[in-house]
Amino acid sequence: MVDQRKSAFRARVAYWVQRLDVGAHSVTLRPMRNKWASCSTSGRMTFNSDLLPLDEALWDYVIVHELLHFFAPNHGKLWKSLMAAYLGDYRALETRLREGEGTATS
Ligand SMILES: [Zn+2]
Repeated sequence: MVDQRKSAFRARVAYWVQRLDVGAHSVTLRPMRNKWASCSTSGRMTFNSDLLPLDEALWDYVIVHELLHFFAPNHGKLWKSLMAAYLGDYRALETRLREGEGTATS
């Protein structure tokens, strides 16, 4: 079951990497204390394994949030408009994530 969620999550990351055309490669899933995800400038991505039981809409939020940092290092205008373009009402997802877990996105 866990493995199934893991491969579903990895497939979702691969989908967004292709769609956004970013240079992300290795994806790691592991427990993280204070955040949902992180990415390095070299394209290595780490996601919190606590995401696995959550709704896939929330996966999309965390994945797209992180991948867009390849284009926009902060949460400024560019990042916000891209988030809205790909996810629509991303703020609602952000709120769900916050209320659900109280863990910050990076
Ligand atoms: Zn961020």
